[in-house]
Amino acid sequence: MNILVVEDEKKIASFVRKGLEAQGFRVEVAHDGDTGYTLAAARPYDAVVLDIMLPGRDGLSILRNLRERRMTVPVILLTARSELNERLEGLNLGADDYLTKPFFIEELAARIQAVVRRASGTPQSILTHRDLTVNLLTREVKRGERPVELTSREFTLLEQLVRSPGRVFTRMQICEKVWGYDFDPGSNLVDVYVQRLRKKLDGPEAPGLIETIRGVGYRMKPGGP
Ligand code: CA
Repeated sequence: MNILVVEDEKKIASFVRKGLEAQGFRVEVAHDGDTGYTLAAARPYDAVVLDIMLPGRDGLSILRNLRERRMTVPVILLTARSELNERLEGLNLGADDYLTKPFFIEELAARIQAVVRRASGTPQSILTHRDLTVNLLTREVKRGERPVELTSREFTLLEQLVRSPGRVFTRMQICEKVWGYDFDPGSNLVDVYVQRLRKKLDGPEAPGLIETIRGVGYRMKPGGP
């Protein structure tokens, strides 16, 4: 896999390059935003790891420009703990995932593999995550052996989350995908639906699957059974 890393802090860039190369990735590094954008726009990378604060064009402008040109290369943002607004904006601009510094290289490698797998995935009719099964054709949902009855909106919301386990969706993105709004309805609509889903899906022997990411949104808890 060919990965572009756009990161101006030399130490982090070199740590990421070495770490990813040790895991078998091919890595190119750009140390400023303009070079990063030029490379990302010109070459077919499997994924781009993008720092937000960069000299020249910043990470969010790079992301915006790529998406405006309909370039769908998976993008993982590297953000500082304090960059909450940037993280939200990045997800809304079409970033596939983000990682907060400092991070373990193994985690970055796992996230890259996940976004690349999702980007190249063939359409499936049955989605599974842990003990959850979602049949997109019959619209049947099961938690273990127990059937779960969902309304059409609840189903769409669940489908969205379970298609990309581990990926964080902002409330805005969920609104857009489930209700088709391209504005922020300014209500707690999403929260209400997530609560309803949890009530139906979870139980004493079925621990919570949907995780709240404070100040950001929701995701399907990543990981195995
Ligand atoms: Ca930086």
